[in-house]
Amino acid sequence: MTETIDFTRITACGECCDGCGKKPSGACPGCIEADGRVPEWSGSGRCRVHACARDHDVLFCGLCAEFPCGRLPGFISWNPNIVEHQTNLARMYREKER
Ligand code: SF4
Ligand code: SF4
Repeated sequence: MTETIDFTRITACGECCDGCGKKPSGACPGCIEADGRVPEWSGSGRCRVHACARDHDVLFCGLCAEFPCGRLPGFISWNPNIVEHQTNLARMYREKER
């Protein structure tokens, strides 16, 4: 299973933009490509999850030294299982890197 994940395509919040219909339609450039400057975060200018992950020099939150930090639930409020999701992603990433 881990071989099928291209971690260079995993977003800071632990998703993958590649299957999203907004990209081919031109509605969104993809947050990796746009360095977090996507329409959904136009109010704050840049995705706060993406910006925080890049500030911490990690691909996604599960790899962060501060994970699971107190900001995470607020940053990713749409996923109540975000800590579990990011923990699993980090485990798969580390297994692949071994
Ligand atoms: S919440 Fe942020 S990191 Fe997640 S997909 Fe959207 S722009 Fe990317
Ligand atoms: S775990 Fe917290 S501090 Fe680390 S990148 Fe994610 S939001 Fe930022």
